[in-house]
Amino acid sequence: TKPKILVTGGAGYIGSHCCKALAKAGREPVVYDDLSRGHADAVRWGPLVVGDMRDRALLEKTLAEHRIGAVIHFAALAYVGESVGAPEHYYDVNLGGMTALLEAVEAVGIDKIVFSSSCATYGTPDRLPISEDLPQAPINPYGRTKLVCEWMLQDAQVAHRLRFAALRYFNAAGADPEGEIGERHDPETHLIPLVLMAASGQAGPVKIFGTDYPTPDGTCIRDYIHVDDLARAHLLALDHLEAGGESVKLNLGTGRGASIHEVVAAVERVTGRKVPHELAPRRPGDPAELTADPSKAAEVLGFTARYRDLDEIVAHAAPWFGL
Ligand code: UDP
Repeated sequence: TKPKILVTGGAGYIGSHCCKALAKAGREPVVYDDLSRGHADAVRWGPLVVGDMRDRALLEKTLAEHRIGAVIHFAALAYVGESVGAPEHYYDVNLGGMTALLEAVEAVGIDKIVFSSSCATYGTPDRLPISEDLPQAPINPYGRTKLVCEWMLQDAQVAHRLRFAALRYFNAAGADPEGEIGERHDPETHLIPLVLMAASGQAGPVKIFGTDYPTPDGTCIRDYIHVDDLARAHLLALDHLEAGGESVKLNLGTGRGASIHEVVAAVERVTGRKVPHELAPRRPGDPAELTADPSKAAEVLGFTARYRDLDEIVAHAAPWFGL
């Protein structure tokens, strides 16, 4: 049998979907999570170690005790808006976590890391769709922490034997098609859950942040990728590293974008409900349009998103909001 995988942040949204995908592929995930944002009941496919990402000693002990073969590192703070107001906290947790992880894997001799990076590392791109060779110039603290983490991996690769896959997610959305796990953030700040909550009456009208962007309908365009597709991409990245493949930095997106008005329309179509919404000023730190050029992930990993239709992504998320 293949070695176990440490999944940091495995109690969270993308991490828990990745654990399920690992288990389905016959791999055993060991989750390491501080439960500050994740949910213990989303950890169902292996043991849970509750710990802080900055606790190097506990990380090292966990890696050794479970005879871990590779790490998938999700655990981090991940709200753009929050990072603008509390940058020190973001640098502390996200960079401190990566520092402790790199020290711990080096100490026990693990040489493979799959890392959750972000399209936020590109900032406001000067070309669309975004390919991996575009300059990385993040415009908020969250994006800067993800970029520095990529540099840390790069530097560790030079100094040690480490190989890594930095996966730059576009907008993760949807939920497990089998309905076992979903998206539960507290507080919820993401668009699709907030639109669904507005449709179901669990929350007030959704605010549309900015209607004067230079896009066809004036609202921001994002590349929404199904969380199950993201999970599958992590398994392919792990296969790539386990087969001896070299370090890679890859975009994970569908290649097509949807505006906020289009998301609202999709939710209305799928749920048959009206979505109460109001127009609001721009949210600081938001670029007008982020869409991926997904061709490199297709080339290197053979990965393409299976869920290409926004309605299908929304349909999988809707039951989590009673719709
Ligand atoms: N957004 C919005 N209203 C909300 C939440 C988000 O208009 O209540 C917009 C946000 O400004 C961005 C897009 O929806 O343009 C996606 O935001 P989200 O927070 O879901 O993901 P992000 O792009 O920040 O990772």
